[in-house]
Amino acid sequence: MPTPSAPVAEPQPSPALDAARKVLRDVFGYGEFRPGQAEVISAVLARRDTLAVMPTGGGKSVCYQVPALLREDGLTLVVSPLLALMKDQVDAMRAMGVPAAAINSTVSVEEQRQVLAAAGEGTIRLLYVAPERFGAGGFMAALRSLRVSLLAIDEAHCISQWGHDFRPSYRDLGAVRDRIGSPPIVALTATADPRVREDIVQRLGLKQPEIHVAGVDRPNLRFEVVRVSTLKEKFEGISAQLRALKDESAIVYCGTRKRVEEVTDSLQRAGIKCARYHAGMEDSDRKRIQDAFARDKLRVIVATNAFGMGIDKPDVRAVIHHDMPDSLESYYQEAGRAGRDGDPATCTLYYAGRDRGLREFFIEMAHPEASRVVEVYQQLVSFGGNRVHVREVMRENDEPGINAAIQSLVESGLAARAGYSVWATRFDGEADIDTASLEAHREHSFHKLDAMENYARSRTCLRARILDYFGDAVHEPACGNCGPCISGGETHEEATTAAEDSLFRELREARKALADRDGVPPFVVFSDATLRDMAKKRPRNRMEMLSVSGVGQVKFERYGEAFLSVMRAATAPLPERKTLYSRTTKTADGSKLTPSLRETLSLYEDGIRDVRTMARARALSPSTIANHLGQLLMYGAIPDLDGMVEPEKVALVQRAANGQPIGSIGALKQQLGEQVTYEDLHLIRAWLARK
Ligand code: ADP
Ligand code: MG
Repeated sequence: MPTPSAPVAEPQPSPALDAARKVLRDVFGYGEFRPGQAEVISAVLARRDTLAVMPTGGGKSVCYQVPALLREDGLTLVVSPLLALMKDQVDAMRAMGVPAAAINSTVSVEEQRQVLAAAGEGTIRLLYVAPERFGAGGFMAALRSLRVSLLAIDEAHCISQWGHDFRPSYRDLGAVRDRIGSPPIVALTATADPRVREDIVQRLGLKQPEIHVAGVDRPNLRFEVVRVSTLKEKFEGISAQLRALKDESAIVYCGTRKRVEEVTDSLQRAGIKCARYHAGMEDSDRKRIQDAFARDKLRVIVATNAFGMGIDKPDVRAVIHHDMPDSLESYYQEAGRAGRDGDPATCTLYYAGRDRGLREFFIEMAHPEASRVVEVYQQLVSFGGNRVHVREVMRENDEPGINAAIQSLVESGLAARAGYSVWATRFDGEADIDTASLEAHREHSFHKLDAMENYARSRTCLRARILDYFGDAVHEPACGNCGPCISGGETHEEATTAAEDSLFRELREARKALADRDGVPPFVVFSDATLRDMAKKRPRNRMEMLSVSGVGQVKFERYGEAFLSVMRAATAPLPERKTLYSRTTKTADGSKLTPSLRETLSLYEDGIRDVRTMARARALSPSTIANHLGQLLMYGAIPDLDGMVEPEKVALVQRAANGQPIGSIGALKQQLGEQVTYEDLHLIRAWLARK
């Protein structure tokens, strides 16, 4: 993917751009382009495929509306996912005297005919269409007889399943261009996630696209994070903030509908006028509230993220988050609804350490572990295709990911579901479960959550964090206008002790080794912030490890034990180590081991010694198995390395370690290269430690 153009100098003056500026002034009444608009419009006018990444409110529409008026040789087709938004835009265009129209499911057949006829005569310059329309044969036939000079795809992130707003109706847009005379495409989105951008380019088949990331910074927004430990503190902070706003407009975002209800009630009880808004309400109520907000009849809205798309209110002075969103993209999109008029506005995130839990729950719900999906399938198969109640395949009451697990089996054609009944429709389909993709989605979600949480915990410039994340390369290290900058708070990460620092370095080495082994960048394993938190908390077991920020279930399964053993080997003072071993020798019979360790032990007891065979048998990664075996060795549940690691290797490693206990595996692996595997080292270290 080409690198985004850095937002530096204005582009060279050009006649095309002068004409565009004239349209901007004459038709739209705006004196100057906003950041990025001139670049995008130039590219579009030069008939280049273009991807424009601009924040919400950045002025993406102008990027295709201005060219639409300048390209007299044909029609600009605008694909937009939201009917309400489409109508607003068409109304706004018409109010400026621009001939625009929309075709979607709310437009009668007769009206459609008229619109298409007008487009054919060139009296309509901008035609907004809902993506579903391209599936309609009649519409496509009519389109083919028109000359389309530009295909604009608004909210283009909807095409990507990595985005926060994937829409199946967008999926096939890639094929549309060639069916309407191959016009250039301009795709527009506010989404920063690099993976989503890549997806947009690929799925739309953009050819050598110009990619502009622009105007990410919103200098008039002041960002702040209020760290609290109780709900009460959140409520007190928020109500004080709303009172201080007097009769200015504000949005309070909450993580769940239930939270919206609670916060609205509490605010109202405290005498603050506000209304609730979430997707569980009647459409008519929602519309009423949205209108009241738009017309300033209502100043404060307490809402889930259902409130927003299509909200164009320019003078929202504060966007307050009661709960941490799932990603920095979501956060910036929601917070970005403040201050669209360019006047100062505040974006406040209230954060309590345990807020992550809610988000993890949602991830568990949407992206169950791949191994869990396989397990559910196996269970359904074991029922021989008979219909069973969903409860039958649940691991626990209300298992969060069960519906998503079943859904993914249904989508793979392996199972079917009707209400609470579920059954296997094929019995040999286990290999068709796309475990890699399931895991990738889950991983991706956790990764985004980590970035969000790092923001919430940041002691340094919040704006710089956002701009870094969004790929906006040119900015000051500290903005002077956000919480940490104003409070003159610590300019470095939280002070760390020397011990923490050295452990942190150890952990990083281990991370590097794991990343190399898996062929992924280190941050995919764990972020620096996670390793720092780990160094601080020094978790000693699974439970404690899961409390480290950035360590979710999947990451734990994959890497947890590896890091735990680094911690054990590297940091535990000798006496403590002794007690660990003497205590755990009691578990030599396996009675106190976790179920998972017991399972690995039972493979060992069945005579299996090869790590990879065990890994396959347990559908776990070899590193996890090596970790298990390492623990079992340390606990004395396994007596020695016989059959698992050749004695020559053990000798080699011992020599390399100069007879010292092995601290960091990463360093040894580097030293010994291909002569030993990571798994070997793990086992040898555990065994030596025990000896
Ligand atoms: P986006 O789609 O990027 O969220 P919009 O296209 O809806 O943003 O634009 C947001 C607001 O900014 C609109 O009211 C629009 O008319 C206004 N706007 C766009 N370009 C300019 C400009 N160059 N100068 C002033 N206002 C602009
Ligand atoms: Mg828009």
